[in-house]
Amino acid sequence: MTIAIASGKGGTGKTTLSVNLAKLVSATYPEAETVLTDLDVEEPNSGLFLNSEVVDEQRVTRKIPEWIEEKCTYCNICRDVCQFNAIAVLPNQVLVFPELCHSCNACVGLCPENALRMTDHHIGRLKHMTSEKLNFVEGELKIGEQQAVPMIAQTMDYSREKFPESALHVYDAPPGTSCPVIESVKDADYVILVSEPTPFGLHDLKLSVKTMRKIGKRFGVVINRDGIGNNDTVEYCREEGVDIIGRIPNMTEIARKYSRGELISSIPEVREQLFHILENISQITGQSVLPGQKEEE
Ligand code: SF4
Ligand code: SF4
Repeated sequence: MTIAIASGKGGTGKTTLSVNLAKLVSATYPEAETVLTDLDVEEPNSGLFLNSEVVDEQRVTRKIPEWIEEKCTYCNICRDVCQFNAIAVLPNQVLVFPELCHSCNACVGLCPENALRMTDHHIGRLKHMTSEKLNFVEGELKIGEQQAVPMIAQTMDYSREKFPESALHVYDAPPGTSCPVIESVKDADYVILVSEPTPFGLHDLKLSVKTMRKIGKRFGVVINRDGIGNNDTVEYCREEGVDIIGRIPNMTEIARKYSRGELISSIPEVREQLFHILENISQITGQSVLPGQKEEE
């Protein structure tokens, strides 16, 4: 089972929910494998809430073309085939712009002189860490790199290959509704959209709902800071037939713990809601989210 946790904008509590949900399951079902993967690669911050130990670290690269000057006849074919304007042919030089290149290989394949070859371009790092029984994988894009999607894809591949199919995967997706989010949720069995019951929150939620429907994902809404704002989000979900699968209350204790970088799953009201969310997902998907036997407390 893979659950992706997304939101239309940052700061809605997406990371808080991801970390606390994953941590709660790993602590309650220590015999099962639970993996939290931070796919918010431009600004990964799940780790701020976890005391973790690094067990593996890898350099992440993607392929871009490299020019071989002595073979080139300046025929311009590479420039013309590149749909992304990532190549410029100058009178005595061919320039490749890595930030525009989508690693499609077309220029390399079509160069009549074999004057281009694919080479590794460093885009970031990924780390596998453990925090007690929780496995935590974090992808981090190098500063200045603009393409988050290859970094997200390789971070997800690492998580998938490293852990058994029976593992519960929780993905902390990037905020928004653009390509990085779509990449992050594409393999998910269920997507949780986290929203706050405010006009801004509702505006972004509507965009997220539209995106999830367009890509055909099963999803539900968790209202964070329930009790602030108005009832418009609940009304919207009712009218649109969107499931509200949980509500995290607006409590001073949550804010206090959050500001100290502490987990909020120890708060009984939050804990109850987290289990409620997991039970709802199990019911909706018909798949068991919570594997194994609940540990005696
Ligand atoms: S297609 Fe090959 S030979 Fe032609 S300009 Fe590009 S690199 Fe040079
Ligand atoms: S690999 Fe594809 S995207 Fe990159 S420069 Fe070549 S043609 Fe353009």
